[in-house]
Amino acid sequence: MATTSLAKRPVVVSGPSGTGKSTLLQRLFANHPQTFGFSVSHTTRTPRAGEVDGVNYHFVTREKFSSMVTQHEFIEWAEFSKNFYGTSIQAVKDVMQQDKMCILDIDMQGVQSVKKTDLNARFVFIAPPSTQVLEERLRGRGTETEASLQLRLETAQKELAYAEQPGAHDKIIVNDDLDTAYQQLEDFIFRNV
Ligand code: ADP
Ligand code: 5GP
Repeated sequence: MATTSLAKRPVVVSGPSGTGKSTLLQRLFANHPQTFGFSVSHTTRTPRAGEVDGVNYHFVTREKFSSMVTQHEFIEWAEFSKNFYGTSIQAVKDVMQQDKMCILDIDMQGVQSVKKTDLNARFVFIAPPSTQVLEERLRGRGTETEASLQLRLETAQKELAYAEQPGAHDKIIVNDDLDTAYQQLEDFIFRNV
């Protein structure tokens, strides 16, 4: 059955900051704890309220991050909104070793890098219903300063433009109604539709 081979392929979730990636993925992991594993990235950004080191991210200093780059510990890494983010080889291995499907939440640069690797990933883009709604969500989340919010919105335009290129992603889901978007995400992950 098709799901057997799908089960072996990592899924890369990307989309503008504030579009709802973490919200959708939290639900996915809560609903299927034995099926999926999250690739826990390293980042130099400060933890937000409620974020747990080693769960949401490995929060590291710039020095530590640089040394990991030098030691070739990352599959990919990128600068996003004045911080560094990277997927370590170990993070993906940790999930694979548990025999779970690996889910990566990474930015557009990460998507482009992963495409050049042998991870054989599938790519899903989570789009906001509009840029206005995106801004409302980002503001509503209450995690950004005005400057970092503006930077994230600028970057969002680039991510949206990239997503319009044919073949950039295997699936685009508009996260308007959360339940509908979640169902579409499950359909893509389990049935590739
Ligand atoms: P991302 O991980 O893509 O940066 P989040 O998952 O943190 O985005 O979502 C940003 C904000 O939008 C959060 O406050 C979240 O509760 C809210 N949100 C996510 N999806 C929806 C939705 N479908 N409708 C309304 N609000 C949403
Ligand atoms: P946030 O700071 O909101 O958690 O994440 C900002 C952006 O960084 C998001 O687009 C998220 O997908 C991306 N991101 C998180 N981890 C990684 C990573 O390991 N590599 C790359 N390239 N981007 C990442």
